Amino acid sequence: MAEPTARIIAIYPGSFDPITNGHLALIARGSRLVDRLIVSILSNEAKQPLFSVEERVDMLEEVLKPYPNVEVGLFGGLLVDYAAERGANLILRGIRAISDYEYELQMALMNRRLRPNIETAFLMAGEAYSFISSHLVKEVASLGGNVSGLVPPSIEARLKHRFQQRSVRI
Ligand code: ADP
Repeated sequence: MAEPTARIIAIYPGSFDPITNGHLALIARGSRLVDRLIVSILSNEAKQPLFSVEERVDMLEEVLKPYPNVEVGLFGGLLVDYAAERGANLILRGIRAISDYEYELQMALMNRRLRPNIETAFLMAGEAYSFISSHLVKEVASLGGNVSGLVPPSIEARLKHRFQQRSVRI
C-alpha cells in the first residue's frame, strides 16, 4: 500500500487592502496545489489601510466563496508563529517582478531561520496580472480611474463607494 502523503496546509499572507484579481489568480492556482489554503490578513493598523480589518475579512469571504478549500484568517504577530498555530507547513507568496524578489527572499530566509520546518513557496504572477498591486489600484480609483478587470466587481463597487464617501487620496 502506498504511504499516505502529507497534507499541505498553506498560509497566503498579505494586506489585501483590497484584494485584487492578481491575488485572486494566485489563490486559484495555489488552492489547486495544496489541501487547505488560509488566506490571512495582516492586521497592522499602523499601515493606515483604506479598508478596516473587518471590511477586508468581509471582502475576502465574499470573493473566496467559490473555493471550497480556501478560508480566511487574520494575524497580528509573527507570521511563522501564526502559521504554526494554524498547523500550516507552507507559506505561499507571489512574485510579480524582480522588485518583489529581494524583499520576498529576505522574508523567506528570516522565516526559515525562525521556523525551519515551515517552507515558503512562490508562484510567478500570471502575465496578465503582474502589473497589478493594491496600492496602484487604490491610487487609480482615488483619482476616478477605471479599475474594472483589476479587482472583482464587488471590490470595484466598494472602492467607488469609499472614494465617494471621503475624498481620500492615496
Ligand atoms: P503586502 O502587504 O505583503 O505587500 P499584498 O497583499 O500586496 O501584501 O501581497 C501579498 C502577496 O501577494 C505578496 O507575495 C505579493 O507579492 C503577492 N501579490 C500581490 N499582487 C500580486 C499580483 N498581482 N500577482 C501575483 N502576486 C501578487
